[in-house]
Amino acid sequence: MAKQVQLYIGGEFVDSASEQMIPVTNPATQEVIAQVPCATEQEVHQAIANAKAVFQDWKETPVSERARVMMRYQALLKEHHDEIATILAGETGKTFDDAKGDVWRGIEVVEHAANIPSLLMGETVENVARGIDTYSYTQPLGVCAGITPFNFPAMIPLWMFPLAIACGNTFILKPSEQDPLTPTRLVELFEQAGAPKGVLQMIHGGKDQVDMLLDHPDVRALSFVGSVPVGQYIYRRGTENMKRVQAFAGAKNHCVIMPDANKQQVINNLVGASVGAAGQRCMAISCAVFVGKAKEWIPDLAAALAKVHPGAWDDKDAAYGPLISPQAKERVLKMIQQGKDEGAECLVDGSNCVVEGFPDGNWVGPTVFGKVTTDMQIYQQEIFGPVLCTMEVETLPDAIALVNANPYGNGTSIFTASGAAARKYQHEIEVGQVGINVPIPVPLPFFSFTGWKNSFFGDLHAYGKQAVRFYSETKTITARWPETDLVSGPNMTIELK
Ligand code: NAD
Repeated sequence: MAKQVQLYIGGEFVDSASEQMIPVTNPATQEVIAQVPCATEQEVHQAIANAKAVFQDWKETPVSERARVMMRYQALLKEHHDEIATILAGETGKTFDDAKGDVWRGIEVVEHAANIPSLLMGETVENVARGIDTYSYTQPLGVCAGITPFNFPAMIPLWMFPLAIACGNTFILKPSEQDPLTPTRLVELFEQAGAPKGVLQMIHGGKDQVDMLLDHPDVRALSFVGSVPVGQYIYRRGTENMKRVQAFAGAKNHCVIMPDANKQQVINNLVGASVGAAGQRCMAISCAVFVGKAKEWIPDLAAALAKVHPGAWDDKDAAYGPLISPQAKERVLKMIQQGKDEGAECLVDGSNCVVEGFPDGNWVGPTVFGKVTTDMQIYQQEIFGPVLCTMEVETLPDAIALVNANPYGNGTSIFTASGAAARKYQHEIEVGQVGINVPIPVPLPFFSFTGWKNSFFGDLHAYGKQAVRFYSETKTITARWPETDLVSGPNMTIELK
């Protein structure tokens, strides 16, 4: 019997009393590697009550001490980088390098959280009126919660709890039920970093457990990353319950290729950006829009993609791993069939992918469609697999109009040698993260992760200065200390002698 993943409540790893378990499987073999419990209502409420009680002390902990927890945590994560990446690869199937990247991008957010004293600095203005000064403080909210997706089990939990906790909040993490072992290791190391018991709690499960967090009056703010329907549901229910909510959702990211771009750079970059991590990245490029004569490069791009193949996490030649589950594979295969049925040209077909030695893995080979149009389902839906749609337009304004008409707005990129074209694109495009000759423009943590439109519901984004504002309240103080006190005030007479 595979081991049961534990809950982390009140600073202790505990077995859940729940009888409802979800198997965690190795996506390359289907081997069940753990069972994750769906926490009971009593356990979720206990975690919230504990987090609420611990908040009273944690918010009074000096900010430099809170920063030092993050410094120690950063050092521990680096020390255990390979070990965490191995756990991560085992439950997601990611290649080892990709798994290390997932952890590394989380470590960078912890580094950012270690700068919390500067990030919390408020504003001051002297003499807003004669003898009156105004200044602001940044204070924590209380209990915050995070619900995370399967595709970055290290990076996305680390987008959330280090910054929330550095701000002085306590935090409840509900990671994806598909890969809870990586978050468990992150939580163990956080405890080792010297975080007081109860500052971070972890519960497991799915919709029911999320609803318990959404409905509990003591949860003040909720961060979510996942699919659009779930993001919309969480945003609506959370705000209906008067909580602060930020919900990062799905995507359809376009790369626009101008004919003056460097062809080889475009092809090399598009291969990794489209099928890397089996296309299971919210910033993956899933549509390549070729402008004018650039369309002549499509056959060479297809040929380059046909050469890469998926494989097991420790196969050094593998470009990417399996999809997360048989259901995910089934859905992607259906989308590929749909693309063929609706008239797109299937230039490379990964439907019948076999990886030697792993007959049961959720493999899908690289797939490229040509002549994709905006009315097709393969264009309108997020496929979340190693599938690239190619499209052709005549001019840059046509490309901009196409991208702007798409309901998603997570990321986009343009490849060009023209500063004027790049400037026009960055200015006019209605997408929150733009790359110029950079295929996947994920901002580093001192900026924020700024998806737009259906890729994000809320106002304040993840990490950077925006996350600090999301996880805190601003208190503005207006103070007058009349000088008459200096002569007549009872407490000041001694100092005046
Ligand atoms: P998902 O929406 O299925 O699950 C995300 C989380 O929500 C999980 O913890 C899950 O347990 C929980 N959940 C699932 N159904 C729920 C429901 N009905 N009610 C409440 N909670 C529920 O997403 P996923 O498949 O784990 O992740 C893939 C999706 O995440 C893709 O759409 C991808 O684009 C998106 N994503 C977006 C970003 C971003 O920053 N915009 C980053 C990573 C992933």
